[in-house]
Amino acid sequence: MSNPEAPHRVVVVGGGFGGLQAVRGLRRAPVEVTLIDRRNFHLFQPLLYQVATGALSPDEIATPLRAILKRQRNVRVVMGDVRRFDLDRRSVVIDELPNGDQGVAIEYDTLIVAGGSRYSYFGHDEWQRFALEIKSLESALAVRRRIFTAFEAAEIEQDPVRREAWLTFVVVGGGPTGVEIAGQIAELARDTLPRDFHAIDSRHARILLIEASGRILPAFPARLSARAARALERLGVTLALDTEVVDLDQRSVCTRDPDGTTGHVPTQTIVWAAGVVACELAGALAAATGTEPDRTGRVAVREDLTIQGHPEVIALGDMVSVHDTTGKDVPLPGLASVAMQQGRYAARAVRARLRGERSPPFRYVDKGNLATVGRARAVADIKGIQISGTLAWMTWLTVHIFYLIGFQNRLLVITRWAFSFVTRGRGARLITGSAHAAAEADVVSAAPERKNTG
Ligand SMILES: Cc1cc2nc3c(=O)[nH]c(=O)nc-3n(C[C@H](O)[C@H](O)[C@H](O)COP(=O)(O)OP(=O)(O)OC[C@H]3O[C@@H](n4cnc5c(N)ncnc54)[C@H](O)[C@@H]3O)c2cc1C
Repeated sequence: MSNPEAPHRVVVVGGGFGGLQAVRGLRRAPVEVTLIDRRNFHLFQPLLYQVATGALSPDEIATPLRAILKRQRNVRVVMGDVRRFDLDRRSVVIDELPNGDQGVAIEYDTLIVAGGSRYSYFGHDEWQRFALEIKSLESALAVRRRIFTAFEAAEIEQDPVRREAWLTFVVVGGGPTGVEIAGQIAELARDTLPRDFHAIDSRHARILLIEASGRILPAFPARLSARAARALERLGVTLALDTEVVDLDQRSVCTRDPDGTTGHVPTQTIVWAAGVVACELAGALAAATGTEPDRTGRVAVREDLTIQGHPEVIALGDMVSVHDTTGKDVPLPGLASVAMQQGRYAARAVRARLRGERSPPFRYVDKGNLATVGRARAVADIKGIQISGTLAWMTWLTVHIFYLIGFQNRLLVITRWAFSFVTRGRGARLITGSAHAAAEADVVSAAPERKNTG
C-alpha cells in the first residue's frame, strides 16, 4: 500500500521515442519518475542505416539518457533490463543491473511501458546469424563491419567467382529501411569508394533488394513506390519483387518467385529489413494479465492505452495494438511519431488522473510518411500530398534534424551531411573489431535482445 502523503510514483520502462516523451511530459507534474532502460542512451533509429553505411558515427544519433534528463529534477534513471511485471504488487522486476544485482523490484503507482519492437525472421531465427538487422547501435555497427570488410575482401580476392560474391549485397525487405540501406550501399559503391580501391571497381558491386510483395514501400501510395523504384534502379540497385527468401546462410540467399522458380544468389553480405514483432516486454505484460499477444507479439491496450483491468498500467509505441470500445483493432503504423504522440498522451493522462479527471481516448494525428532513396532523393506522402525528389528530400532532412535529440547532435549531423553532400564522402568507414572473425563477432553483437518468451 503506498503512503498517501508520498509523491505519486511513475515508473517508465523504455527511454525510446515513446518513453522519453512520457518522461518529459511529466517534468512539471508532482510525481517521482523512474526511467528504466537496458541502454544508457536514447537511440534515433531512423538514422541507424547511416551508421551502418559509414555516413554518421554512433554518437551522432545516440544521446545518453542522463544528459537528456539532467535538468529534470523529478526523474531518476536506472540502467537495467526489465524482465517481469508483478501487476498485483505493482512492481517491475529488473535484471542485469550495472552492479551485477538481479531480480530487483521497483514499485509504482503508475506504470508506463514502451519497449519497442525487434525484427522477425519469420520463424527462422537461425537466419539472424547471417542476415544482420539494423535495429540497435551494435547491429548497425556489425552491418558496417560486414559491408566494408566485403569490399576489403574483394580487393584481395583472386578467384573471380568469390570476388563477385564479396561484391554482392543483398537487402531483404522493401520497406523504408530496406530502401534506404540499399540506396546507401549503392551510393557508397558508386560515389564514395571507387578511388579507394585499385584492384576492384566498386561501381560493379551488385545490390539486390528483395521484396515479397509486388512493390517497394508498400505503405506508400503506388505512384510514390514506382518513383522510389525508378530512383533506386538509377542508382544501380536491382529490385527482386514478388520474391520470397526461402533460405539463407553465410554464403548465399535462396529465393522463390510466385511461379515457383527458385534462385540462388552467392553473397557474403545480407542485411535484414523485413517484418517486425513486438519486444519481449509485450509478451511479459500479456502474461501478467493472462491475455494473448497478437500474431506480431503486441499486447492489446484500450483506447486510453491502459491494459484491460489495470487502469494504472499504460503501454504504448511499437509493442501495442490499440483496441476501440468495441474491441476492434485501430490500425496504427509502427512509427516514431505514433510512439511520441502516445508518450505525450500518457503524460497528460497521468497529470489528468492526479487532478481527478478522465482523459479522452488517444487519437493519432497522421503527419505523413517519408523515406529517402539516396542523395537528394526521397518520397513523401503528407496528408495526401505526394512529393518526390529534392523537395521530399529537403522535407526529410528538416524533419530528421528537428527530431534529433540534442543541439550538439543536430549541429554535428548537419555539418557531416553538408560535407558528405559536397564531397560524396563518408567519414565513418571504419572496420572495428576483427575482420577475420567478423561473422562470429556479428552474431554476438547483433543479438542483444532476448527472444520473446511470451
Ligand atoms: C532502422 C529503423 C528506421 C526507422 N525509421 C523510421 C522513420 O524514418 N520514421 C519513423 O517514424 N519511424 C522509423 N522507425 C520506427 C521507429 O524507430 C519506431 O516506431 C519507434 O522507435 C518506436 O518507439 P518506441 O518508444 O515504441 O520504442 P523504441 O524507440 O524502440 O524504444 C524502446 C526502448 O525500450 C528499451 N527496452 C526494450 N526492452 C527493454 C527491457 N526489457 N528493459 C529495459 N529497457 C528495454 C530499449 O532499449 C529502447 O530504448 C525506424 C525503425 C528502425 C529500426
